[in-house]
Amino acid sequence: MKEEERLSNLRFIVDCMHGKLARKMRIYGYDTKYDITLDDNKIIEIAKEEGRTIITSDEELIRRAKTENLQVIRVPLDDDLPRMIKIFKVLKILPKIDPKRSRCPNCNRQLTMVDKKEVQNIPEKVLKRKKVFYKCNGCGKVYWYGSHWKKIREFEKTLKKRLKELKEGEEI
Ligand SMILES: [Zn+2]
Repeated sequence: MKEEERLSNLRFIVDCMHGKLARKMRIYGYDTKYDITLDDNKIIEIAKEEGRTIITSDEELIRRAKTENLQVIRVPLDDDLPRMIKIFKVLKILPKIDPKRSRCPNCNRQLTMVDKKEVQNIPEKVLKRKKVFYKCNGCGKVYWYGSHWKKIREFEKTLKKRLKELKEGEEI
């Protein structure tokens, strides 16, 4: 239970370079703030006020966050896979997607499972084929397990495998 509490208390703020990463973190269920209008001052302020860990590749922001005693994770610039490996390794958590915990990749709000009668503007063939729908409590966007979901699960598998292969203390 304690571990679950720790996980649900984790909150992040991602700098403007990492929008795609923010979307992924939300799918994994983490409250992740991302807003391209926020400058470094604002990111520092929000991290402090809301107890968020900063995720960035920006050395200046990392330096400032450390001066303010804030939690910060330095991620590589190249790709989401090494970035996610770094984040989960630093936090010592196993990446696990639980769709019931997933947040809206668009707006970071939580999703609610809804009946197909409650969803609108969904292609007819999707409505026929799919049983489970999730609706965002914020922006109202509706999600279902489509072809995109397969990619998300494949990514999760690779991520888990790579994390397992990493030896203790190995640099990424
Ligand atoms: Zn949303």
